[in-house]
Amino acid sequence: MATILSWFGVARPAPALARHEVDVAIIGAGAAGISAARFLRDQRRSVAVLEASDRIGGRVHTDTSIFDVPYDMGAHWIHAAHGLTLLDLARQNGFDPYPANTDETLMIHGREATPVEYREFDRAYDAFESAIKAAGRSGRDVAVADVLPDGHAAWRDTVSFILGPYACAKDLEDISTLDFWRSDERSDFYVKAGYGALVAGLAAGLPIRLNTPVLAVDRASDRIVLTTERGSLSARRLLVTASTNVLADGIIRFSPELPAGHAEALAGLRLGTYNHVALELPGNPLGFERDAPVYLHREGRRNMGLLARVAGSDLYLADAAGGYGAELEREGPEASVAAAVDLLADAFGNDIRARVKRSHATTWGRSPYIRGAYSCAAPGRADARRTLAKPIDSQIWIAGEATSPNLWGTVGGAWIEGERAAREIVASL
Ligand SMILES: Cc1cc2nc3c(=O)[nH]c(=O)nc-3n(C[C@H](O)[C@H](O)[C@H](O)COP(=O)(O)OP(=O)(O)OC[C@H]3O[C@@H](n4cnc5c(N)ncnc54)[C@H](O)[C@@H]3O)c2cc1C
Repeated sequence: MATILSWFGVARPAPALARHEVDVAIIGAGAAGISAARFLRDQRRSVAVLEASDRIGGRVHTDTSIFDVPYDMGAHWIHAAHGLTLLDLARQNGFDPYPANTDETLMIHGREATPVEYREFDRAYDAFESAIKAAGRSGRDVAVADVLPDGHAAWRDTVSFILGPYACAKDLEDISTLDFWRSDERSDFYVKAGYGALVAGLAAGLPIRLNTPVLAVDRASDRIVLTTERGSLSARRLLVTASTNVLADGIIRFSPELPAGHAEALAGLRLGTYNHVALELPGNPLGFERDAPVYLHREGRRNMGLLARVAGSDLYLADAAGGYGAELEREGPEASVAAAVDLLADAFGNDIRARVKRSHATTWGRSPYIRGAYSCAAPGRADARRTLAKPIDSQIWIAGEATSPNLWGTVGGAWIEGERAAREIVASL
C-alpha cells in the first residue's frame, strides 16, 4: 500500500476520513465533480472529492448575502434545457424551473429601437450567425472573424459583441467556427433560488473535502497518490475536473507529466473572460418585466449584455466579457461597476445613475482555482475537446465543461461529462 500521511493532521480539526484509500478520487466539486460523485456513490464505489475552495459548485455559485436575494455569481441560465438531466433533477427537488424570456429589447443611446431597426438588427444577426454555422457545418475550423459577411455596417459591432464575448467569452478572432457550430444551446430555463443553489443542493451527502487543494498527482502502475497540504490520499482511479486554465497553468503537478496531446489540448481550450456586474435598482425605474434580456447598441467593443430584474427582483446583471471584459477585470471591480453604470446611462439616460443602490462585480479570472470563465476552442482547435476527454493509461480522466463536444461552456455540459467519465471509470475498475 502506498504511504498515506495523516489526512487532517496538519490543518484545522476536521472529521477523520473514514478511508484513506478509495476507488476513485475526484479533484473539484463543481458540476462535473458532483455529477461524477453522485454516479459513483450510486454504483457503491468508494469516492473522495477534494475541493480547493471553501465552497461547493465551482463556477456555479449562488450568493444571498450581498443583495438579500439569490445572486448567481457564475452560471445563471440553464442552457439546452430540454432533455437535460439537471432540469429533471431541478423539478424533482422542488426548484420549479421556468423558461427564460427570449423577447429582447434593443436600446439605442437613450431610446428603444424602432421596428425598422429591429428588423435590420435581426437581419444582421441572422447573416452573421448563418455564415459562422455554414463554415462550421462544412468542417472549416477557422476564426469566426474571418467568415463574417460584408455589409450590415451599422450593426456590426453590436452583433459581434453578442455572438462573440456575450455568447463565447472571447472576441471573434479567438473563436473556432467549428466549435461554435457544434455548440447546441437550444433553450434556456431559470430557477428562482439560483442555479448555484440547485447544483449545491444536488451535492448533499457526498464525501466532499473543502479547503483541500490538490498540489501533486503521482502515478504508479497500480495506484495514484494525491498530495494536499493536509496529507495524501491514494486512489485506483482519478477524475480531474479543474478548469483548463488551472491545468494549463500547472497549478497541479503531475508525475509523470500529462501526455503531450493533453497538454496541447489544454492550450487550445483556454478559458475566456466573462463577469457579471450586478446592480440593484429598486422600484423598477426602467419598467421592465422580470428577467428581461436587453441588448445595448454600441459602436466599438465596449459593450455589455443586460438581464433586467432577475427573477422579478431589483437585481440587474450587466455582463462584461471577451477582451474588453478582461481589461475591466484587470482594472478591478470598481472599474467594472463604473463602466456598467456608464453603459446604462448611455442607454437609458443619466437619471439612472442615482437609482443604483448596491453593486458587485465578479472577477473569475482572478480566482486562483478557476482562472477564467469557460472554454471556447481557439481557431483550428475544435477537436482538442475529444483529445482532452481521452483517459490517460486507464487511470486518469479529465472531464468538465471543456470536454463536452456540444455543451461546452455550460453547467449542463459539465454535468453530463462528469457522469460520462464516471461511467467509463467504473467500467475500467
Ligand atoms: C460568470 C459566468 C457565467 C456563466 N454563465 C453560465 C450560464 O448562464 N449557464 C451555463 O450553463 N454555464 C455558464 N457558465 C459556465 C459554467 O459555470 C461552467 O461551464 C461550469 O460550471 C463548469 O463546471 P466544471 O465542473 O467543469 O468546472 P468548475 O466549476 O470549475 O469546477 C472545478 C472545481 O475544481 C476545483 N479545483 C481547481 N483546482 C483544484 C485543485 N488543485 N484541488 C482541488 N480542487 C480544485 C475548483 O475550485 C472548482 O470548484 C458561466 C461561467 C461564468 C464564470
